Amino acid sequence: LPRFDIVTAGELLAEFVAERPGQRFDVPGRFQGPFPSGAPAIFASQAARMGARVAYAGCVGSDGFGDLILDRLTADGIDTAAVGRDVEYPTGTAFVRYRDDGDRDFIFNLTHSAAARLDVDDAGLERLADCRYLHVMGSSLSSPAAIALIDRLATRVRARGGRISFDPNIRAELMADPATRAAVLTRIDDCDVFLPSEADLAWLSHGEPEAETVARLLDERRMSLVVLKRAARGSEAFTSGHAARRVAAYPVDERDPTGAGDCFGGALMAALAAGEPLERALQLASAAGAHAVTRVGPMEGCSDRATLDALIASHGGAR
Ligand code: ATP
Ligand code: MG
Repeated sequence: LPRFDIVTAGELLAEFVAERPGQRFDVPGRFQGPFPSGAPAIFASQAARMGARVAYAGCVGSDGFGDLILDRLTADGIDTAAVGRDVEYPTGTAFVRYRDDGDRDFIFNLTHSAAARLDVDDAGLERLADCRYLHVMGSSLSSPAAIALIDRLATRVRARGGRISFDPNIRAELMADPATRAAVLTRIDDCDVFLPSEADLAWLSHGEPEAETVARLLDERRMSLVVLKRAARGSEAFTSGHAARRVAAYPVDERDPTGAGDCFGGALMAALAAGEPLERALQLASAAGAHAVTRVGPMEGCSDRATLDALIASHGGAR
């Protein structure tokens, strides 16, 4: 039995959320936070709350934001032996605002923060590589240190027979860097499970119809499962040679869309790592994504199985 079900690595940050839709960054306003955040951390929290054995590699500063994040990961039962505490750089931060049309803008301070200083020694990497799945977020491929670490980890996970899932999580602000773009393409080539949003797939397909891009990825790359996330319109799962499975979204009252994709992925991979059939894993993932948007704050909408089963039951089970 591998030591961990799921290993994740990448940015850990404190997030501040603008209180009002339409609130601006260039005039004073009120923000809620700090909330523990970072796409891989949201994913990890969701997977751990569902009972998966999860380990995290990352770095926070020696400050209160670092305490906030480490306390949260620990409370969720996540192994944090590979989470460093930088003595020089502060914990990474992000500010998010919602435009009137619902689109989000971010201001990240990651490059010059502890988040960009993650480092794990060979013994630490070997310990983490003893897992069923390594999950990678495209948003994590934003510093040379993170790109190198995830590369080394992926190589070791492969050598031990583990599998890799990848959510490209493309943010225009981060994708301007050619090294980040190249690393995202490498991870797409190398993953077993691919979890793009509609916007991520559009970035890859350059105007080609979605279904054709997905078919091409399944035919020409290593991946054997693609789950396309369509926010309030649900999701669609594709496997080689099979008809696409459409998964409807659970109708909920959306209060904060941040974290939906990460919770969806965390629930999906926790269920697959536990050996659940794809249909059931997709149902849990859809419920986790729906639950996530009902809470303000990136990780505040993570859920355990009992919460998801209640949400599914309240909608009559089927989706
Ligand atoms: P993120 O902003 O976290 O990167 P994403 O773009 O990766 O999100 P989404 O498609 O927004 O992912 O959300 C993932 C899944 O969560 C959806 O496929 C859907 O199942 C569920 N979901 C998202 N938004 C809603 C909503 N408003 N109502 C119900 N379910 C939702
Ligand atoms: Mg996403």
